[in-house]
Amino acid sequence: MAKREYPAEPSLNEVEETDKEHVFGTWSFQKEVSPTEVVDADGVRFTTADGEEYIDFSSQLMCSNLGHSADKVSEAVAEQVREAAYVAPNYTTEARAKLGAKLAEVTPGDLSKTFFSTSGTEAVEAAIKIARFYTGKQKIISRYRSYHGATYGSISVTGDPRRLKSEPGIPGTIKAPDPYAYGSTLDPMESVEYIDEMLELEGDTVAAILVEPIVGSNGILVPPEEYLPRLKEIAHDHGALLICDEVMSGFGRTGEWFGSDVFDVEPDIMTMAKGLTGAYQPLGATIVNSEIADHFEENMLCHGHTYAGHPAAVAAGLATLETYQEENLIERANEMGEYLSEHIDELAEKHPSVGDTRGVGLFRGIELTKDPEERVPFGKREDKISSGSTVVDEVTTTAKEHGAYVANMINTLIIAPPLTITEDEIDEAIKAIDAGLKVSDNAMKI
Ligand code: PLP
Repeated sequence: MAKREYPAEPSLNEVEETDKEHVFGTWSFQKEVSPTEVVDADGVRFTTADGEEYIDFSSQLMCSNLGHSADKVSEAVAEQVREAAYVAPNYTTEARAKLGAKLAEVTPGDLSKTFFSTSGTEAVEAAIKIARFYTGKQKIISRYRSYHGATYGSISVTGDPRRLKSEPGIPGTIKAPDPYAYGSTLDPMESVEYIDEMLELEGDTVAAILVEPIVGSNGILVPPEEYLPRLKEIAHDHGALLICDEVMSGFGRTGEWFGSDVFDVEPDIMTMAKGLTGAYQPLGATIVNSEIADHFEENMLCHGHTYAGHPAAVAAGLATLETYQEENLIERANEMGEYLSEHIDELAEKHPSVGDTRGVGLFRGIELTKDPEERVPFGKREDKISSGSTVVDEVTTTAKEHGAYVANMINTLIIAPPLTITEDEIDEAIKAIDAGLKVSDNAMKI
């Protein structure tokens, strides 16, 4: 591949073409990668280099929870970088100490001590290692409809098709069924009892059960109220820990601080990223209860990164958490979630290709079907790792042409706008999705 000289004054497409040539796209056949240059982002909107403006109805990758104009966070980062851009993890900053304390305050129950990293993937990686070190056991049970990250440990506990090319992955990972009432033959509460039996059959070898309390990219799966408490009981009955992966469901997304709060469950370990800084800086966090924290007083925590607790990232985290509190954004997500849900119900009434709608707060999914009776999906799960676009991709492309960016995964539109969104902005984005759903309605008839 020839090296491209970057021009002093790039033309409109030059940036995108140069980027495509020299930068890998993630999770893609590179020939299909088509990066779009963003030149501005403000409130809940972003603008591309061709002058088009979009409502960000998925907070980019379900992470820009504060929208794109959280000045308090930008200023905290700039100030920290000017003051001390970087200190090694064996030093600290005021923001790191305060963020550690604040996370202990806002997370459930006895969760009290945090390991900082730079992504959700690393937060999960740390959780796996901590659970193994603490229990002295090796196996991790996770579920098929899940995503936990891209490195070898975190992809090995991931259940969705993105794991397939990285298999066999690390040893000791086992997949369980999911609480997926719409598409699984197992009733959600039967699926949790199945996990009980799995633990029984694995003997005393399981370190932890790892779940997203509300499944995110695998389709916004909300379990029944009793599911997560029962899962915790099952884990503890068998000497295993419960790890809740709150990378996507955390920080107000669900109308509560965390997905675990929706079910009143206190996990033993919780992983966080995304909304932790509202995406203003890359930061991951793994918080553990005091019993696990105490264990590492006399046992080495054999884990760390150069950028663990990076000063600019923890400054962003602290300012972000203060913003959630000062602007009552968690309560707001709840209220706006109600409004959003009414509009999604209307879409479901109107469009025969809407098979199911699910969610809480500002964390909602619209699952599409080409046959509502038989609940036949438009695409297979394996489509996630094959080439070409699906009907659901065409739905989101059409929504984008009508002014709203909406993420999708396999068969489900993932709706997760910034917590700052207004009713008018929701109306606007719903109109764009309405236009997109005509594509799937038409595709049913083919
Ligand atoms: N865990 C969950 C539940 C996620 O949704 C994601 C990313 O989408 C991850 C972990 C991985 O986070 P990251 O992409 O920041 O590494």
